Amino acid sequence: MPENRVDRSQRIPYGSESANGSEAMISLWDLDLKLLDSSKRFKEHIGLAFRNEMTLWEAYPTLAKPAFAELIRQVIDTGEPRTIRLDDPKRRKCSVLVSSIRAGLLIVENNGAITKDVPPSADDEKALLIHQATHDVLTGLPNRRQFSSALAQLFPVSGKIGPVLMQLDLDDFKPVNDTLGHGAGDIVLKLAAERIKDALGRGGTVYRLAGDEFAIIQAGTQRTLEAEKLAEALVAEFKKPFTVNGISVFVGVSVGIAIAPRDGNEGEQLMKAADVALYAAKQEGRRRARTFDPAMLIVVEQRELLRRSLRVALQRDEFFIEYQPLVKPPSNVVGFEALLRWRHPTLGVIPPAAFIPMAEADGLMRDIGQWMLEEACREALAWPAHYTLAVNLSPAEFLTPGLTDRISQTLDIVGFPAERLELEITEGVLLERTTNNLDTLNTLNVLGIQISLDDFGTEYSSLSYLKNFPFDTIKIDRYFIRDLLQDTKGQTIVRSVIGLAHGLDMQVTAEGVETQQQAVWLQKEGCDRLQGYGISPPLGADKLDDFIRQGARTQSIATFGEFHASP
Ligand code: C2E
Ligand code: CA
Ligand code: CA
Repeated sequence: MPENRVDRSQRIPYGSESANGSEAMISLWDLDLKLLDSSKRFKEHIGLAFRNEMTLWEAYPTLAKPAFAELIRQVIDTGEPRTIRLDDPKRRKCSVLVSSIRAGLLIVENNGAITKDVPPSADDEKALLIHQATHDVLTGLPNRRQFSSALAQLFPVSGKIGPVLMQLDLDDFKPVNDTLGHGAGDIVLKLAAERIKDALGRGGTVYRLAGDEFAIIQAGTQRTLEAEKLAEALVAEFKKPFTVNGISVFVGVSVGIAIAPRDGNEGEQLMKAADVALYAAKQEGRRRARTFDPAMLIVVEQRELLRRSLRVALQRDEFFIEYQPLVKPPSNVVGFEALLRWRHPTLGVIPPAAFIPMAEADGLMRDIGQWMLEEACREALAWPAHYTLAVNLSPAEFLTPGLTDRISQTLDIVGFPAERLELEITEGVLLERTTNNLDTLNTLNVLGIQISLDDFGTEYSSLSYLKNFPFDTIKIDRYFIRDLLQDTKGQTIVRSVIGLAHGLDMQVTAEGVETQQQAVWLQKEGCDRLQGYGISPPLGADKLDDFIRQGARTQSIATFGEFHASP
């Protein structure tokens, strides 16, 4: 490895700070003589036999001899440091002293080279303190602090291509923590750290920045292609499962790569570039590596802009609602689903899929959902009284405390009858806090509100939900309706869901009905309600008025296209 590729950060803890230079082999032991902490050199020296909490006797078998054991006892009892010449072929020398950092024993080996008889004390304790301050306890990797100083040392870069920075973030780590517990999460993090180190070899240094975030610095001159290959190899390594307490756990990794000085000629800039690349990797589906490209900034910036304007969208009255008809075949309009829209002052109308996840993540969904419910109920008051109103509840809203009170108050204030309101929820919200969820649904039921299970078939589709929760309607996801006529398996599924729902005394709505053939087939199979572009797209306020007026006329599947109320 050429000199300029040597990672300078590796030398920080002992190189400049310790009297023993980078040779120091330091270990700290508790009073039961179990290992508490140690320097990198010590770990390297012990090699494969190394493990946390190993005993002093395992590390230094010669010290177990009665004479040495007695010396060590004396050091502990009297606090007087001693230097021991080990009884091995190299005749190594160890300084044994009582540590003032933590109650315990500090052993400093001079590696046979320096043989001054004075026990190195303050400097070595300092070195160990620095080790503790610069390393992550869980994985033993250098930590964020050391990362920052290593990164700072890279700059300025003079050549055309210099060091590489990679930001790594584990995919699907949170569910491991949530479902298997933090102990399992810790094991995965340790194994992940090992995997990254193994894949990296001597090609750079890996740091743990926080939680499930890691970083790699490859100092010196690097080749872009090599860095990308390494990142790909890392991603591939993480496609294999981790075994935790006998269970196979799949945790992937996404990698963002930035190369100095092209993507940044100082630490913060390079980090931002790697972050942006990581974000792009996540956006593109995760479990992949991406190298920074300035075009990525546009996406991020747009997203940040969007995020900022979303925070004020409610005050600025930028939301509005479209309503999509729900039809009982062949012809009866029975109600409408309210669908949220955001009219951005410069970008125009933004679909909910683009901003609802952002609103949820930023904790805005409760207020937006409240506005939505109130506004939709007000508008629906103007409809003929037999039309129902369906409103979507996002998981974030469903899980906020006091939901049922807020809903019943809203209905009271607006004067909208509970019997005409239908709330659509997805299975995802039912995964957690089962008894509370059941309480919430039961309370809504008692109020007279109808509950629909939205997007059925896309998520967990657990039949136990159907048994345990009081749904009135199941909405079959449009994914199953799309290829209905070409796909006999799809037909079997839809037919079975209809049978299942009816057997449980629930109704069935088919979403995404786009063609007359689909509508005819669904009617024949006894589907209770249809919704889709083929019947009508979601309608703005003015078109809705037209539609409702027209809806009074007879409409039927035979005149399918006429459901489009003058689009
Ligand atoms: P969703 O609840 O499944 O709503 C139906 C979506 O399917 C709507 O998209 C609708 O425009 C679209 N759609 C209707 N008919 C057809 C069809 O024939 N073919 C196809 N391909 N699509 C059709 P939209 O309005 O973009 O809403 C997307 C999702 O955003 C909704 O899916 C819902 O999960 C969420 N959403 C919309 N409004 C709200 C809201 O007020 N609150 C919450 N929490 N979520 C909302
Ligand atoms: Ca819905
Ligand atoms: Ca749906």
